[in-house]
Amino acid sequence: MFSLLAAGAEVGTVNPWVAVAYLVAGVLFILALRGLSSPATSRAGNRFGMLGMLIAVVTTLVTHDIANIVEIGVAIFIGGAFGLVVARRIAMTQMPELVAAFHSLVGLAAVLVGWAAYLNPGAFGLLVPMDTIGTDYSLPMQISAVSKIEMGLGIAIGAITFSGSVIAFAKLSGKMSGAPILLPMRHVINLGTLVAIIVLTALFAMATGPEETFPLIVGLTVLAFAIGFLLIIPIGGADMPVVVSMLNSYSGWAAAAMGFTLGNTAMIITGALVGSSGAILSYIMCRAMNRSFISVIAGGFGAEDGAQGGGGGEQRPYKSGSAEDAAFMLEQAEKVIVIPGYGMAVAQAQHALREMTDILEEKGVDVKFAIHPVAGRMPGHMNVLLAEANVSYDKVFELEDINSEFAQADVAFIIGANDVVNPAAKTDKSSPIYGMPVFDVDKAKQVFFIKRSMGGVGYAGVDNDVFYMDQTMMLLSDAKKMVEEIVKSLD
Ligand code: NDP
Repeated sequence: MFSLLAAGAEVGTVNPWVAVAYLVAGVLFILALRGLSSPATSRAGNRFGMLGMLIAVVTTLVTHDIANIVEIGVAIFIGGAFGLVVARRIAMTQMPELVAAFHSLVGLAAVLVGWAAYLNPGAFGLLVPMDTIGTDYSLPMQISAVSKIEMGLGIAIGAITFSGSVIAFAKLSGKMSGAPILLPMRHVINLGTLVAIIVLTALFAMATGPEETFPLIVGLTVLAFAIGFLLIIPIGGADMPVVVSMLNSYSGWAAAAMGFTLGNTAMIITGALVGSSGAILSYIMCRAMNRSFISVIAGGFGAEDGAQGGGGGEQRPYKSGSAEDAAFMLEQAEKVIVIPGYGMAVAQAQHALREMTDILEEKGVDVKFAIHPVAGRMPGHMNVLLAEANVSYDKVFELEDINSEFAQADVAFIIGANDVVNPAAKTDKSSPIYGMPVFDVDKAKQVFFIKRSMGGVGYAGVDNDVFYMDQTMMLLSDAKKMVEEIVKSLD
């Protein structure tokens, strides 16, 4: 938030060195995104991003008389210390809710910058003479219509990002139910509110003087906070990952709109990069779940009867086995495909899993890892955990690259995954995950399914037919404990 405000205080610069420094920062941000696209280059990507941000912040601070440097130092120290503590404490499984919380701050920062610019336009260089072309400096000064449109858009997108992210945080952290909350006539209410925000922004741009503009900017801010809330409460279950990345995109566009208001190129570049990368990620995730973007934002997915809390009802027969049984069959296998999911992250079983696969490979077994785009609780969740355990990247495959190989696999080894292997996604139109591409584990000769109990369900809250297949052996235990026992039995 501080960097946004600090960078935001830059006013219509003409200094070429400032422009060059912001351009260098922008190039570094692009290199950061490029680096982050592969686990092998992600550390370098992070460093590029940090360097770019350092250049942008330092350039803004040294070239403008923004505020007392001591106050800025104190703000950096408090923000940095808070970030350090949070980053150290947070578990990998809580990352999506942390990201949602951070997006809410970006949104709020955009609202505050917009309001600051409205209340003190002179300090932001936004005042122009009141004639039609804005060049007669003998006339009283006012904020131009274009600046007011940018201000209105920045505040509106920022407020939507803020309240939407707060709801996403509450849903992901379990502080409120993840089930969709469906208001009657919600599409009409949402559409009406969006239209009202656009009309208020237009009226705000045309209005003159504080008596006319103040009620309009208050109105649009309040309505934007409300629509963020209304847009996210009907979205539930399996669509939350898309929402987090969509809010990421909104926070970028809010920053870009503020960059236009303040004439700050660094903010425009950064905001556009965040906005478009978040939009692309949302699109990729929608494709991974076979959902249309519009149906995700329209909400209500997973609200049908039985969508939440499945797994109850009548008990169906299943086979369960021990670590020794699993170890014996794994040793005999030629080809094993491991499907990790959220439970592996909870159990922190990735190191034991790597040990298990190393032993199997020494015994001549071909082992591959299959990663679903929405496995775990954040994009790339499984890749990060496997990389942390030093699993070689060339053994890790995306859904579309490995799904055809299950037919030749001797063992599909499911560890803490559930929704991403649920065949209901292919066959049951009433299922909340219907349409999401899933791994064809039923084609493997033998399936091992590690989870703690038959009662537990996946994120979407539905039963899974894989538990009851003839070739499935349930290994009911904590994932780490089970894999450690398999490793002992393999030795
Ligand atoms: P699921 O959430 O579907 O299933 C998790 C499984 O892990 C359950 O079967 C659970 O059963 C088991 N489990 C939990 N803890 C342990 C443990 N300690 N040891 C062993 N097993 C354990 O996971 P998937 O990865 O298959 O699917 C991800 C889901 O999350 C999808 O629905 C996706 O849409 C959603 N999602 C994804 C996000 C993303 O960006 N990747 C973000 C937010 C949601 P039990 O309790 O019986 O042990």
